[in-house]
Amino acid sequence: MRKILIVGAGQAGLQLALSLQVEGYDVTVMSARTPDELRDGWPTSTQVMFEPALNTERAYDLNLWEDEAPRIRDVGISVSPEPGVRALKFDGPWQPYAMSVDQRLKMSTWLELFEDRGGRIIYHPVMTSDLAGLAPMYDLTLIAAGKGEIVELFDRDPVRSKYVTPGRALSAIYLHGMVEPDDFPAGSMRINVAPGVGELFVISNLTMSGPSRVAFVEAIPDGPFDCFWDRPKPEEHLRRLRHVMQEHMPWEADLLRDAEPTDARASLSGSLTGTIRKPYAEIAEGTYVLGMGDVVVLNDPVAGQGSNSAAHCAGIYTKAIVDRGDQPFDPEWMQATFETFWEDRAQHSTGMTDALLNPLPEHVQQVLGAASQHQQVADRFCRLFPHPEDLGPFLGNPEAALAYVAKVAEADAATGA
Ligand SMILES: Cc1cc2nc3c(=O)[nH]c(=O)nc-3n(C[C@H](O)[C@H](O)[C@H](O)COP(=O)(O)OP(=O)(O)OC[C@H]3O[C@@H](n4cnc5c(N)ncnc54)[C@H](O)[C@@H]3O)c2cc1C
Repeated sequence: MRKILIVGAGQAGLQLALSLQVEGYDVTVMSARTPDELRDGWPTSTQVMFEPALNTERAYDLNLWEDEAPRIRDVGISVSPEPGVRALKFDGPWQPYAMSVDQRLKMSTWLELFEDRGGRIIYHPVMTSDLAGLAPMYDLTLIAAGKGEIVELFDRDPVRSKYVTPGRALSAIYLHGMVEPDDFPAGSMRINVAPGVGELFVISNLTMSGPSRVAFVEAIPDGPFDCFWDRPKPEEHLRRLRHVMQEHMPWEADLLRDAEPTDARASLSGSLTGTIRKPYAEIAEGTYVLGMGDVVVLNDPVAGQGSNSAAHCAGIYTKAIVDRGDQPFDPEWMQATFETFWEDRAQHSTGMTDALLNPLPEHVQQVLGAASQHQQVADRFCRLFPHPEDLGPFLGNPEAALAYVAKVAEADAATGA
């Protein structure tokens, strides 16, 4: 039985561990945190996952919250070019639905499931210096440590990486008691965009204490939304959120009226710099480790792609490992395995992130305007989140995008829609 070591117990590492366990591999996971520490800790992200990524979990019966987690069937998008003014809005479906399960709940449960199924977990934060001793004991070692220090093992890919500083300041709070708006389908995720200021995402979510909402802010650095940098406690975080939304997005401030944090550690703030890394590293002469998830493809979460991408990475790596049979996991195989992930998914997630992180080109602004008039355009724009591979065909060529919009408008005019 081939022996696999996975360092890091997040979406990428744990999904791979649980999948390989089912495939009959001898898997060891090294986790910096125990299930109790995860459950009692601070959140580190939000985690909307779309149908294609959820299907990679379903393939190994890992969708444990299917009946409990709110089903996010639609997304409502608003654009506010001036504070307090909603210039346009539209919504479209996410078919059949997306889902968000607090990673504190999900990863603690998955760790316990892995152990219950006979998997071995070593609770220990791995140091780079530990790896040279550990890796030779396994057929393959994967590093799935997210944004931990250990990722520095992997060189930045200067061709695929575009950023040297964070594009946004990130903050989020998990809430009970947030009121539903009446102008979008019930349970919709809401994306409020204030060009030049930032974005507010409101996400239906399942946390330890049940269904909840997450209010997640992407702030342009040093702008008015960038007011959580000192990591305030949840109560203070919520006070500032209400205050800033009162001026910029009062329709959302109204919905926050009766909200309260879900728990004493319900908030987060921080930032990250989008970075693509080389997929493998040589940690001792002739000993290589393979990176996965955020370690190798780290994108700002503005397009909600990271957990999705990590799940696809786990799915693609599982297949590549199984298909490899008894052959060695050498650097050529590692490079080829990563390239499959990059081609199939990561390049599209990265492209979608770039598109939303940077000022929207004129033709995309026109498409958004058309989306507020024509449901077919709205549907196709909303579908980009689960299917970022349509970004190029849809919006990559300004002339083609505007021709498509004109054709839809003509057809709508003909039918009186
Ligand atoms: C504010 C925010 C909002 C987000 N919202 C979304 C969203 O809505 N949708 C979406 O798809 N993505 C979202 N993301 C991105 C998503 O959270 C990540 O892309 C995803 O969690 C990456 O999974 P991962 O397994 O690669 O890394 P991680 O989830 O970071 O997991 C890595 C694990 O490794 C552990 N670890 C680190 N160092 C070591 C070590 N030395 N030894 C052992 N263990 C170690 C960590 O403790 C952690 O448990 C968001 C991110 C942020 C910051």
